[in-house]
Amino acid sequence: MSTTASIRFRVSPVAARVPPEQRDLLLANPGFGRIFTEHMISMRWDAKDGWHDAELKAYAPLQLDPGTAFLHYAQGVFEGLKAFRQADGGVAVFRPDAHAARFRRSSRRLALPELPEETFVEAIDLLLQHDHAWAPSAPEHSLYLRPFMYASDVTLAVHPADDVTFLLIASPSGSYFPRGVKPVSVWLSEDYTRAAPGGTGEAKFGGNYAGSLLAQAQAVREGCDSVVWLDAAEHEWVEEMGGMNLCFIFGAGSTARLVTPALTGTLLPGVTRDSLLLLAADLGYGVEERRVSVSEWRSGCADGSITEVFACGTAAVITPVAEAKSAHGAWKIADGQAGPVSMRLRQALVDIQRGSAPDPRGWLHPIRAAGSR
Ligand SMILES: *Cc1c(COP(=O)(O)O)cnc(C)c1O
Repeated sequence: MSTTASIRFRVSPVAARVPPEQRDLLLANPGFGRIFTEHMISMRWDAKDGWHDAELKAYAPLQLDPGTAFLHYAQGVFEGLKAFRQADGGVAVFRPDAHAARFRRSSRRLALPELPEETFVEAIDLLLQHDHAWAPSAPEHSLYLRPFMYASDVTLAVHPADDVTFLLIASPSGSYFPRGVKPVSVWLSEDYTRAAPGGTGEAKFGGNYAGSLLAQAQAVREGCDSVVWLDAAEHEWVEEMGGMNLCFIFGAGSTARLVTPALTGTLLPGVTRDSLLLLAADLGYGVEERRVSVSEWRSGCADGSITEVFACGTAAVITPVAEAKSAHGAWKIADGQAGPVSMRLRQALVDIQRGSAPDPRGWLHPIRAAGSR
């Protein structure tokens, strides 16, 4: 038994399903979200007993009643965060407390129960104590953690769930850019909207992604890699790129400024975005959170005041944007190459995540292997 103040985890580890040599083979080229570790965490919530039945057990398929509410009405939320093999051989998770806090806020918006932050972190600790060998050690590789919860009531009636399931799974992931960081082109969508005021855009909610797929397909048809979301009312204010936040670099060298769209309630507040704002200030860059219009983006590229644009998120860290296109025209961002400020910020963040640079804010949460308590 493993305990916290609030909940006890039953621990039912399984013998390794995958022999070490085969695991090393899988870890050499993991891709993204394709392979999963030996175990998972599950937990239940109901209105009567609160959180209960917390358990570490073998990773296995679920058996769901076809009447499970989540399958019909999508009442569910998720998180995405990473564990990194450290320079000293240990494993550490990047900012699990910030992800736990966002998971609570997402849950509140979807009328789901709020999992205490310490229980969220405890679940990660327990899973990684057992599955730490699945954290890859190659540079740019990591162990992606996917906590999620869903309405597990069996009913077709629409109402906030009385019965909820939390699961945590882990998936080794390779480099987002196996052949080096590659700038992308973006399509500014005016036909579709990701999020509107009062909607669910601020929550990490699967429905936001389901609603984005057609717009992403349109971006590809327009010859672009990714879709950029604009505000719902005017389609003039820049919000996000796909499932990532956007940043604009004005100027160059020591006087460069990082400008990112303000969190208006329709943007997802990224932990990477937040981390880069702090690191940019540490490195001496000016930092602004404010509205950015499409016309400012376009004219700033034309007159050279905007020197770099990038998207940021847990999966890719930083993705440079080379080119923008909309129904009204197309323009390049500087010379279309990954810019020096973007790459410096990327390196600064990756160095902290890998434990090869100081971590003054305590962003890394170290994991101890099972048995070493
Ligand atoms: C998850 C997500 C992000 C990035 O958040 P991180 O915490 O940096 O990974 C940005 N936008 C959307 C829509 C997201 O779902």
